[in-house]
Amino acid sequence: MIIEQKQHIDKILIPVLREVSDPEIPVLSILDMGVVRSAIIKNNKVEVKITPTYSGCPAMDVIGDDIKLALKEAGYEAEVQLVLSPAWTTDWITEAGRSALKKYGIAPPLEAEADKEALLGNKKIVNCTNCGSSNTKLVSQFGSTACKALFKCDDCLEPFDYFKCLK
Ligand SMILES: [Zn+2]
Repeated sequence: MIIEQKQHIDKILIPVLREVSDPEIPVLSILDMGVVRSAIIKNNKVEVKITPTYSGCPAMDVIGDDIKLALKEAGYEAEVQLVLSPAWTTDWITEAGRSALKKYGIAPPLEAEADKEALLGNKKIVNCTNCGSSNTKLVSQFGSTACKALFKCDDCLEPFDYFKCLK
């Protein structure tokens, strides 16, 4: 089950923030990634709170700057704060985010238990992003980045990334 986190985002800021994407996955908005905890306008200034995804992901350093830039272009001065608790989990990726990942060729994260089985290579449960087949196998625990694992489809022979579950 996907638990969408409570977000407090001023409606007027949603279209601006929707344009900011995860630097590693350009099709995935930071809103769908679930990293924006709040974005509130106070005295013409925007206060944004974000929760980093994988702390080891260099992408997170860029997101704060991208948010400031996007808001600046929309006419707001912004302050970005990091909120570390509660920690981000892949459960916060929205349904829209999951389908964007799939379209981009990255299999979205499974639930924790299934994720473990998949990464141990015990079960064929990660579906190929190209043909949808579950006849896939784990090639490497680490894909193009540490957040992803590399799989290969035995039906269409395409390799693809699987976005690892993180809780
Ligand atoms: Zn396939």
